Amino acid sequence: MAQNKRLKNLLALLESHGLESLFVTSIPNIRYLTGFTGSSASCLVSPAGCLFFTDFRYRLQARGEVQGFDVVTVGARELFPRLAARARGLRLTKLGFEPASLSYGSYRELKRALSGVCRLSPARAMVERLRMLKDKEEIALIRRLARMSDDVLSACRGQIRAGMTEREVETRLEYRARAAGAEALAFRPIVASGSSAAMPHYRSGRGRLRRGKPLLIDFGLEAGGYNSDLTRTFQLGKLTKRYREIYGIVLEAQQLALKEIKAGVAASSIDACARECIASRGFTRSFGHGLGHGLGLEVHEAPRLNRESRETLEAGMVFTVEPGIYIPGWGGVRIEDMALVEAGGCRVLTSSAKGIEDSVL
Ligand code: ZN
Ligand code: ZN
Repeated sequence: MAQNKRLKNLLALLESHGLESLFVTSIPNIRYLTGFTGSSASCLVSPAGCLFFTDFRYRLQARGEVQGFDVVTVGARELFPRLAARARGLRLTKLGFEPASLSYGSYRELKRALSGVCRLSPARAMVERLRMLKDKEEIALIRRLARMSDDVLSACRGQIRAGMTEREVETRLEYRARAAGAEALAFRPIVASGSSAAMPHYRSGRGRLRRGKPLLIDFGLEAGGYNSDLTRTFQLGKLTKRYREIYGIVLEAQQLALKEIKAGVAASSIDACARECIASRGFTRSFGHGLGHGLGLEVHEAPRLNRESRETLEAGMVFTVEPGIYIPGWGGVRIEDMALVEAGGCRVLTSSAKGIEDSVL
C-alpha cells in the first residue's frame, strides 16, 4: 500500500530532524498518510506505534479506510488526555506538532495534557515535504483530472456568448465538471469579464460578457481527493491591438518558464524567467503574484514558484505555471497550465489550446 511507504518515509524524515514522533492535525496530511477521507481526525506517528483518533461519526468509515494505524474513537474532550496516556505508554519524550493546523487554544490544551509526560516541539511541513513528490498513483489521478479539465473547458467554450452573465458561465462549468466525473469543483471558478479580469482572484458576479473585452476563466476539478487548476483568457469578437500585445507577452513568458523546468533547477529561477520577460516589455508592476503553486491533495501546496521560494525542483513535483498581466480599468490576461517535473524537462499535463487565435470566441 502507498500508505505504508509514506509512513516509512515520514519516520525517516522525522528521525533526520531529531524528532521521534509527530502529532498530525492537517486533514490533507491525514488523508495522505492513512487513506481516511473524512473531515475530522488526528493521528500520532512514532516508530513505537501509530494511532488514529476520530469521533463516533467516523468510526465505521475509519475502520474501512485507515491502513497501518490503531483506530481510536474518542469524544472531543477526551482527545488530549487519551493522547497523553498513549504518549506515556509509548514512552515518548518529545512530540512534534504541526503549527499551521493546530489552533493556539488547542495547543495550550495539549500542552497542559502533556505536562509531565513529554515535550511539544513545532515540526513544520514534514508531511507537506513528502507530498511534494507525487507517486505513480497520484500522478495517474492528477493526469486524469488535467485531461478532464481540458474537456470541461472545451465543452463550455462553444456555449459562451456575448450578453451572458459571468454566473451563467460559472454554472455551465459546474454542470460540465459534474458530467465529466468530477466530484466537485476544486474552488469557486473565476469567470471575469472586461475590467474585472484585472483582479486575479475575482468572484464571478452579474457582469455581462461584452464584445471586444477579455474574458478570464480559471477553474479546477476535484476527484479522489486530488485537484486540478486551469486558466485560459479569451476575447469576445475581434482581437484588439492591446489584447493581442498583452496576450502575446503572457504566452511568451509562460513558454519561456516551461522550457526552463527540469529537475535540479531552483523554483525561484523559473519565476524569475517569466517575470523578467514581462518586465522587459514594461509591465513590471502588472504581474504581482507568484508564477505558480504545487497542487495535489490541496489546490495550493508546496512547492511555490515565487521570488522567495527556496525549493529545488525534483522529478515528480506537480505545479501550475500561471503568469499574468493585470491592468486596472482594462482587464487582465492569465494563462495557467499544470506541469509535471521530469529528470530532463517537464510534461505539461493540461493541453487546452492557447495560441492567440484560439483565444477568440
Ligand atoms: Zn487557477
Ligand atoms: Zn493556480
